[in-house]
Amino acid sequence: MKAVDIKIAREIGYCYGVRDAVDMAIDESDRAMGAKVYTFGPVIHNHHTIDMLKDEHNVHTVNAVAEIAAPAPGKPAPTVVIRTHGTTPAKFKDLVDAGYNVKDATCPFVLKTQRKAREYAAEGYHIVILGHRNHPEVVGIVGQVPDHCTVVDTKDDLEKVKKHLKIAVLFQSTVTYPDYEWAIAPIAARCYEFKLLQTVCGVTITRQKRTVEVAREVDLMIIIGGRNSSNTKKLVDMSAALCRTVHIEEPEEVDGVDLAGVRSVGLSTGTSTPEFLVDRVVDRLKARA
Ligand code: SF4
Repeated sequence: MKAVDIKIAREIGYCYGVRDAVDMAIDESDRAMGAKVYTFGPVIHNHHTIDMLKDEHNVHTVNAVAEIAAPAPGKPAPTVVIRTHGTTPAKFKDLVDAGYNVKDATCPFVLKTQRKAREYAAEGYHIVILGHRNHPEVVGIVGQVPDHCTVVDTKDDLEKVKKHLKIAVLFQSTVTYPDYEWAIAPIAARCYEFKLLQTVCGVTITRQKRTVEVAREVDLMIIIGGRNSSNTKKLVDMSAALCRTVHIEEPEEVDGVDLAGVRSVGLSTGTSTPEFLVDRVVDRLKARA
């Protein structure tokens, strides 16, 4: 088979929020000198990274306080790192109250949205979050203002937005304005004073642009990232509108991709995909030539 031309998007691998969270987990593991360190929820949405942290750094993912070893008298408290997407103030307090050494790896961008939700609620706004209801980032933002907040993910959710004097709309960081444009006018019609802050992360937007640039030029696009990664799924959808697109999580999956008639392959990744996976995919593609 003739070698395919491989084009890699201009931005791949971890975003700064993910890189900082992974670095913090490793630093805390070094400080713990062999003791187990925990992350509250997967620190990012990529099992390769989660496995690496566990196998090489003794950093373990837990989903509930009860799963963490209790602090022992006379011994340093176990360290718990809060994931990139953040958590609710209630969960954060539970961890602090239980005596753990809590380190916050919430991305600064997500922290800003959490802060804005609190500020607007204090100013009397009802908060509407546009994003995926069960995504940990959205859960964490709702937790800032649980009594003043509605999540809108689907058109059916619009019915849940009651009339308020003031409404402020915020976005999950990895969605885009066009994703939820249909919701803006109906929400604005339910209040007298309307505020909208596009809390969409610039890294997400740039990653989408870079992916689209490549997808326009190739016969086949391969997007590498977790199947539970919201931003990766979005890249797949955008690319699929332009060319044949395959979403893979493991480099080995490339072996099963039909390359008949394919002269050029583009590669892009979600923001929680380590760059070494791209190298492995490239090696496997070359091996098939
Ligand atoms: S995609 Fe943006 S908001 Fe999400 S972790 Fe990365 S830098 Fe932070």
